[in-house]
Amino acid sequence: MRGVIDEVLSVNTVHTSQIGQNVFVVPVGLMAFVNHCCSPNCGIKVNETGAHDYVAMQDIVVGEEITFDYAMQNFFVDHFPSQCMCGAKDCRGEIGGWQNLPQNKREQYQGFIAPYLLELDAKNAL
Ligand SMILES: [Zn+2]
Repeated sequence: MRGVIDEVLSVNTVHTSQIGQNVFVVPVGLMAFVNHCCSPNCGIKVNETGAHDYVAMQDIVVGEEITFDYAMQNFFVDHFPSQCMCGAKDCRGEIGGWQNLPQNKREQYQGFIAPYLLELDAKNAL
């Protein structure tokens, strides 16, 4: 799913994607409506425009819902119910951001994480 930025904001809303520490974008089309899953089939890749594409991490069958983990894209998550209802076997129970993502999930998602999150980690490690 190709990301196209419609609008850049400095605040988080229910339909923005976080692409930088204080940079939120409204994507064009259906991207803002892709659901979170704690065991997603897609992850994040940045395209040449700076927008996030959602790319498959595994085979996806016809009719299967496309999902990603909001923690792959957002440092923190507001605007969502605290209880996650994704139904995954390893559901974490709540929709959280990168700051709350367990280490094993960070490793599992390697290569499918918004780069600014890794830059923040490197900066915070100094
Ligand atoms: Zn879940």
